[in-house]
Amino acid sequence: NADAAMYHAKESGRNNYQFYTADMNARASEILLVESQLRRALERDEFVLHYQPQVDMRSGRLVGVEALIRWQHPERGLVGPNQFIPIAEERGLIAAIGNWALREACRQNKAWQRAGLPAIEVAVNLSALQFHHQDIANFIAAQLAEFELDACHLCLEVTESIIMEDAESTVSTMSVLKQMGLRLAIDDFGTGYSSLSYLKRFKADKLKIDRSFVADVPGDSDDSAITRAVISLARNLNLQVIAEGVETAAQWQFLQSEGCDEVQGYLISRPLPAAELGLRLAAGEWLGREILA
Ligand code: C2E
Ligand code: MG
Ligand code: MG
Ligand code: MG
Repeated sequence: NADAAMYHAKESGRNNYQFYTADMNARASEILLVESQLRRALERDEFVLHYQPQVDMRSGRLVGVEALIRWQHPERGLVGPNQFIPIAEERGLIAAIGNWALREACRQNKAWQRAGLPAIEVAVNLSALQFHHQDIANFIAAQLAEFELDACHLCLEVTESIIMEDAESTVSTMSVLKQMGLRLAIDDFGTGYSSLSYLKRFKADKLKIDRSFVADVPGDSDDSAITRAVISLARNLNLQVIAEGVETAAQWQFLQSEGCDEVQGYLISRPLPAAELGLRLAAGEWLGREILA
């Protein structure tokens, strides 16, 4: 397989080129295979969204969920987005898949509301191609109208690389989306290279501290300093701030003492299928006593 070929190439040293070529071919045919399976998956409706809770640190209440796509592959089982989103982007399928996710998240959120559950915000991840190469505002307006969902219950997550790919057009698209009443979050904040001067102009509502920083707080002093700085930046710009990838009580305590608004991570819950999320929404319980104590 491809990894083994790569390993041998590194080990053998001399015949590198040959092994590298074999690896490239393996990768190219894997991409073609996945591409054709992705097209089929769209037709056969093989994608699902799982929803990961986001809780307010002060009240302990669930305030939103992030919709995360998975692929129910007929042979491979449940496949995570890192395995197919990059290929979908490369092969021009991301608009179809991403728009499906956006639409499904709107439909599901309204279904929870119709079932009498407390209204929450659903956050959806966007790819650069969705943001820059289609009329995203019109597409979203059509979904909101069809499902009669209030714009304030939909949050769009964009990354710094989306923003910097075309900063001026992002500023104008974002202001249209804001006028529609949508919520905007900057995902994986700190891992890209966005200009701080744009932060003010983007009219984002929220910064999401990337989990690569959160992972080693409070033990690592550099990551702790970065996390503290992002929280204080967000506060001074009047943005909400949420920490991603919170797994331990020690991380929770650090974030709480630094004034972080919200958290998302395995400590609270893994991403859940819609039905399970609905049950937990109905029960209204999110945090174990050991976390809040
Ligand atoms: P992301 O938007 O930064 O999503 C957070 C990722 O961190 C998710 O991985 C989530 O399952 C994972 N995570 C959450 N809490 C923890 C934790 O405590 N520990 C650890 N180790 N991981 C945690 P997932 O679901 O595999 O998604 C990966 C990425 O795929 C997402 O990163 C997002 O960039 C992309 N993605 C997911 N759904 C969509 C979609 O509908 N459209 C697009 N364009 N991209 C998507
Ligand atoms: Mg995200
Ligand atoms: Mg993220
Ligand atoms: Mg990410």
